[in-house]
Amino acid sequence: HLSERLQAVASFVPQNSRLADIGSDHAYLPIHLVQEHLISFAIAGEVAKGPLANAAHEIQQAGLSNQILPRLADGLAAVNLDDHVDAITIAGMGGTLITKILTSGKAKLMEKPLLILQPNVNEDLVRTWLMNNGYRIKAETILHDLGHTYEIIVGEAVEQPVHYSDLEVKFGPFLMQEVNLAFRNKWQQRLDTLAKIKVNLQRASHLDDAKLLAVEQEIKMINEVLD
Ligand code: SAM
Repeated sequence: HLSERLQAVASFVPQNSRLADIGSDHAYLPIHLVQEHLISFAIAGEVAKGPLANAAHEIQQAGLSNQILPRLADGLAAVNLDDHVDAITIAGMGGTLITKILTSGKAKLMEKPLLILQPNVNEDLVRTWLMNNGYRIKAETILHDLGHTYEIIVGEAVEQPVHYSDLEVKFGPFLMQEVNLAFRNKWQQRLDTLAKIKVNLQRASHLDDAKLLAVEQEIKMINEVLD
């Protein structure tokens, strides 16, 4: 009963990882991975008591209390260095919250775990964070599930810093090469929104030149990537 979105997140977790799933809610993701014998150790971190209780309940029902540890904690405080976690999933939150969790938890990233991130919005912030914190984007995917478009960004620690252009940060270095249907639909929708914004700006009694220019530039960027 795992959503297509969480199945896609799960597909990026390497076999036999020691996983921390931060903001785990019902812990569906680690439960699925353990039940499929893909991993045998996970932490299900939750900042809120209700979701943590859900996680603890589901883990117990699945008989996986020895393998999946529910922990009440803010972000990466759920992880101890002696857990030797080598993969972290953070899914179903905004890019702002995801990068906040990574920044406040930097000390827990010393062993350079793989980061599998699924921001609901502000994907660009996630890519910028990875680039500025010793990670490169190893893989990306975009999919449509239950009326929403989701992006998954996988970050891998690197010795040599990697630079991404503004275009790559906005669209995703892999996604903009692939241009699949979900990608095309997402950015076509954004183009439709921008066209409306442009008309409204042009109709306004005081023309906001800076805003109009920004809108026109974004339209141009999107058209370049979609063409
Ligand atoms: N990861 C699951 C998924 O993708 O389906 C659940 C996503 S749910 C929308 C977001 C969860 O993140 C909530 O259960 C919330 O309590 C939790 N959360 C929000 N901020 C958090 C933080 N700083 N640390 C840990 N969990 C957090």
